[in-house]
Amino acid sequence: MAIPQTFIQELIARADVVEIVGRYVPLKKGGANFMGLCPFHGEKSPSFSVSPTKQFYHCFGCGKNGNAISFLMDHAGMTFIEAVKDLAQQYGMQVPEEEGTPQDRARAQEQREKQHTLTSVLEQAGDAYRKALKDSPRAIAYFKGRGLSGEVAKQFGLGYAPRRLA
Ligand SMILES: [Zn+2]
Repeated sequence: MAIPQTFIQELIARADVVEIVGRYVPLKKGGANFMGLCPFHGEKSPSFSVSPTKQFYHCFGCGKNGNAISFLMDHAGMTFIEAVKDLAQQYGMQVPEEEGTPQDRARAQEQREKQHTLTSVLEQAGDAYRKALKDSPRAIAYFKGRGLSGEVAKQFGLGYAPRRLA
């Protein structure tokens, strides 16, 4: 499932990292930040700081840091999608799912294949016209008369459409 980047940004802006971390770690206000015992390494005095203004946590002991989504992934063991859904649910937001359903993916794949087929048909036609040019002294003479060398014709993929392709 593809989740639009704009939704992720909106979600991170809406989510409160203090609230999310607070679900798992008892936090105490200390100055501008909240402090607690780091859930990522064993310690007896708190060096785990959560900033409500920066929406960011940082451990001065082990260096772990991140936002609400990475906390759910790192600490609660959720996948990215699970963390996004968890937060969205908490804040009453609907995860956009119109993109990336299996049907959509199948349709996109079909579209790509069609495009590919079309491209190769055009390539084959181009090859045939280029070959026709090589086989037609009249066409070559015409191109030369217009100042086009064989090299230029090759570079631009110029061809000749005879009345009937051989
Ligand atoms: Zn730590």
